[in-house]
Amino acid sequence: MGQKVVRYTGGCACGAVRFEAIDKPLRVGLCHCLTCRKHHGAAFNPFVVFPFEAVFIAGGLRSWRSSEHSTRLSCEVCSSPICQQEDDSGEIELHGGSFDETSLFPPEYENWTLHREDWLPHLGVREHPADVSAEILDQSRHVRSWRQH
Ligand SMILES: [Zn+2]
Ligand SMILES: [Zn+2]
Repeated sequence: MGQKVVRYTGGCACGAVRFEAIDKPLRVGLCHCLTCRKHHGAAFNPFVVFPFEAVFIAGGLRSWRSSEHSTRLSCEVCSSPICQQEDDSGEIELHGGSFDETSLFPPEYENWTLHREDWLPHLGVREHPADVSAEILDQSRHVRSWRQH
């Protein structure tokens, strides 16, 4: 018997957009940056990074260029954030709250804790004052690693 492929499903609030992610995420974190806070209307963004080819999305999306190297896609009906893509990364960031099941992806680290809410208990994971996602992705791109989403 072959090994069973794990599939995670999720979607937007209205159901017009559905997605599936297979296997397991590359990394999981929380982002407290001001763009994530405002885009989600939430105290932080729980992001779940998969290889681009491991994610399948169905439904109408609207895109927003949130920085010169990053695009965010939302449901064109209900505006729920669906994913974020960094140019040329080969990765796609889904959001922990979009999955159909809860408690799937506990965070391994936190970014942009400069903007972390004071009332939020500490989770015992690495806290980075700014963004280290790109640094983890590729140490050689150090200059680009400290950046706003
Ligand atoms: Zn929707
Ligand atoms: Zn962010």
